[in-house]
Amino acid sequence: MNPQAPSVPHGRLRRRYILQFSSFVGAALVLVLGLLQADMVHSLRARSVTSLEARGLELFERVETRIGFLRQNLEQFARNPLVINALVEGTSRDAHLAQLVRNFASGRHIVAFFLVNFDGAPLLLQREEAPPNPDPAVIRHALSWTRPAPLIDPGGRYLILSHPLESHHAIQGAMIVHVDFAGLLSEIVPGDRSVRHAVLLGDRVLYQTQATISTDRIELTLSPPPGSAILTRLGLRQRLTVDKSVLRAPIYESIANATLLGLALVIVSMLLAFRLGAKTADPILMLCRRVRLATEDGTTAITPVGTGDELEELAAIFEERTRALWAIRMELENRVLERTETLERLNSELEKEVLERTRVEVETRRHLELLDQAQRIAHLGSWEWDLPAGMVQWSTELFRILGLRPHALLPSHKRFLAAVHVDDRKRVNDVMETAIRGDALEFEQEFRIVGADGQARFVFGNARIDRDDKGEPVRVTGTVLDITPRKMLEDELRRAKEQAEEASRIKGEFLANMSHEIRTPMNAIIGFSHLCLRTALTTRQRDYLQKLYLSANGMLRMINDILDFSDIEEGKLQIERIGFDLEELLVGLDSLMSVKAMEKSLAFKVEPRVELPLQLVGDAVRLRQVLLNLTNNAIKFTDQGEVVVSVEVAEEDASEMMLRFAIRDTGIGMPPEQLSIIFDKFQQGDASSTRRHGGTGLGLAVSRSLVELMGGSVGVESTPGVGSRFVFTVRCGKPLPVETLPDGEDSLLLCDGSMSTEEGTAAEVEARGTLPTLPGINTRAGLRGMGGDVTLYRRVMNKFVITQSDAARLMGSLLEAREWLELERVAHTLKGGAATIGAMDLSHAALQIEHGARDRIGRKSLRQLLSVAERHLEKVLLTIGAAFPEPRRETKPGDIPDRAFDPAELVALLAQARELLRNFDVSSEAVIRALEPWARDKESREGWQGMIRHLEVYDYDKCLELLSQWAARVGVTLEP
Ligand code: ADP
Repeated sequence: MNPQAPSVPHGRLRRRYILQFSSFVGAALVLVLGLLQADMVHSLRARSVTSLEARGLELFERVETRIGFLRQNLEQFARNPLVINALVEGTSRDAHLAQLVRNFASGRHIVAFFLVNFDGAPLLLQREEAPPNPDPAVIRHALSWTRPAPLIDPGGRYLILSHPLESHHAIQGAMIVHVDFAGLLSEIVPGDRSVRHAVLLGDRVLYQTQATISTDRIELTLSPPPGSAILTRLGLRQRLTVDKSVLRAPIYESIANATLLGLALVIVSMLLAFRLGAKTADPILMLCRRVRLATEDGTTAITPVGTGDELEELAAIFEERTRALWAIRMELENRVLERTETLERLNSELEKEVLERTRVEVETRRHLELLDQAQRIAHLGSWEWDLPAGMVQWSTELFRILGLRPHALLPSHKRFLAAVHVDDRKRVNDVMETAIRGDALEFEQEFRIVGADGQARFVFGNARIDRDDKGEPVRVTGTVLDITPRKMLEDELRRAKEQAEEASRIKGEFLANMSHEIRTPMNAIIGFSHLCLRTALTTRQRDYLQKLYLSANGMLRMINDILDFSDIEEGKLQIERIGFDLEELLVGLDSLMSVKAMEKSLAFKVEPRVELPLQLVGDAVRLRQVLLNLTNNAIKFTDQGEVVVSVEVAEEDASEMMLRFAIRDTGIGMPPEQLSIIFDKFQQGDASSTRRHGGTGLGLAVSRSLVELMGGSVGVESTPGVGSRFVFTVRCGKPLPVETLPDGEDSLLLCDGSMSTEEGTAAEVEARGTLPTLPGINTRAGLRGMGGDVTLYRRVMNKFVITQSDAARLMGSLLEAREWLELERVAHTLKGGAATIGAMDLSHAALQIEHGARDRIGRKSLRQLLSVAERHLEKVLLTIGAAFPEPRRETKPGDIPDRAFDPAELVALLAQARELLRNFDVSSEAVIRALEPWARDKESREGWQGMIRHLEVYDYDKCLELLSQWAARVGVTLEP
């Protein structure tokens, strides 16, 4: 129980008792009194009206009775014989009758008495006042046999009574009496000052009593009751008027009495209520007080209250409950104390923990900031994907990489994919899904992201998958690295590389073209100066020519080096694998180099081991080139002593062997620092020796490349002033058994070993009447087709060069234009031409194109075939160009004199042109063009133009025909 309960003000209960009780009693009394009074008023009122009525009726009765009595008196009077006698005799009537009448009238308010005879004549008239004589109608009325009814005179003042007088059964006369009606009434009507009686005839008041009546009154008008025949016949009515106050007075009196009684009752009831209230409320209040005290201290006794009723019982219950509550309260307080202690302890622990947490939080935040900064600097965003919860988190930097404001939206896998470039999206998703669904632990990929600004960025994504014990993926953590700058740099580098490659390709093409263009005239210079040196010359001329010859040779070698080198660099140089005779190669080297060595007074030796195999398979041309190069250098850089070339087998197996060559000299040698770089391109010795010996610095670089291409390596050891030793190895195949060799191939190959740049010139070939070995061309087969006619073969090859050198380009454009039929035709022509000269590989390649074009195998495949054919064609053209340069013309175009119109010159030019045309020589064009000055008229001009047109399509036969006609036109007859 709450000890602080608001205290109830004393006496409230008692007051309420008194108030409620007395107000109930009061209200009941007021109601009863009210009802009583209403009833009283009503009954009093009713009674007063009834009493008024009764009064009136009583009066009517009395008037009736009095009139009846008067009539009886009159009848008696009429029977009086004295009266009859007096009337009949008429004698003594005056004396006697008058007396009788006077007696009769006295005391009866009779104011006049008439006596008439049978015919109405008056016999006696006696009156006190002056009432009028009765009118005839009244008299007739009085003379009837029937007893006449009373009348009231028109003036309303008199009651008229009459009665006939008979004697001997005949009417002798009648009596008529006037009664003072008001006088009569005043005797009958009671004198009452509170009620006014009025007797009315019609509306006229015949008599009225005096009374004090106010305007507040009750008026009652009565007609005579049905029994009163006389009054009814007279038409009398009665009006009673009474003052209302007269009626109310007793009512007011009784109300006052009742009210007084009520008040007394209320007071008594209040007293009663007060007593009752006090009796009831006091023990309750005491109980309240005790309960409160008991609640507060827990010891105060609540019982006994002293009433010995239900309250006593209630008090006992309170006592019991209060004790129980007190006990609970004590226990609760104890518990609260305990709890408070525990809470305080926990609170202090919590405080410590909060401090620790705050510290950790600050630390964590600092680390996060550091991480964010690091990510920002590295342009590396990170993300985490909780797979079961489907929750994705992105680092601030990742938002930036995605072109979003940091934490501008809720990250999700979908949103990430949406940012991925549309072309990469499927791949990115596939890689991720495959990795997650599979059993991968990591995956990575490169893709593009399109930021909110629409800019694409390159990123590198890297992720790790965490799996639970069952291998189910639970979490993926990844990074996204912005590699756009690196990508751009890579792009730039790639472009630069492509440009460089393109430049290099153009350079290579240029070099190839140039060297081809240069080699042709170089061969001419070398060949002709060589031939010239065989003729009779002055010493000076011979000296000049000798120098010319040597310089040209050196230049050609240099060009070849450059060409080889560019081929090697572009990977175009290919190593042949064909049979060759090693001994013949060494003999050739010996005979060539010993001449050179002799010129410098050096000893020169080639030292093959006796057990060496002689027949090998490999690229003899390239091997010879390397040997010549190294030997040349040795002789070049040696002023005295010797140069020794040796060869031995380094390794050997069933099908192959490794040959080791060594070139040793006693020359100037090289310092150690030079040794490491001499095989690099353009590396030469010191300036003075370079100036003295010349060279390009390419020889060793080319040699090394060639050696490596042939499966070997090259090295050098050298001591300055003592000499050098170059060692290199090459891998060669062992020859197959003789019967499996292609028909006659090797014998032809061996007829000259290889094409030589120095002594294998066209001139020499022609002089010897043999054909060099031509890579890519089966010369033996070709020659067999020409019936062994070398000159014819050469002409056919020239024609092939002229007609087919453009074939590859032509086929290329036909292929791109999808001109299948034409392509087929051109390939067919090439196939035939190539087969004729023995270029079987080329012919085969052309056949493939021909079939491909026929079968429409597709441009891609055809392009590949075309490039194969192109390679073969190029090789064949180069081979023919190198083997048969155009030195056979006796006069060069430059020799033609500028001066025109010289007939001798014209003849010479014509002869030269004819000869060149017969040989299908391209330089014929220059000679024909030189004829232009002689084409002076229209016809000769047209003829000349016709020749040029035919030349442009390499139709030499037709051009030759036109030349004969043109010569005749300009007046020159050509000898057959
Ligand atoms: P080059 O065409 O200039 O001779 P090489 O590549 O053949 O170019 O030679 C490069 C350089 O190596 C030469 O300039 C020379 O200094 C040095 N060299 C080559 N062979 C020898 C040798 N046998 N003795 C001394 N020096 C040599």
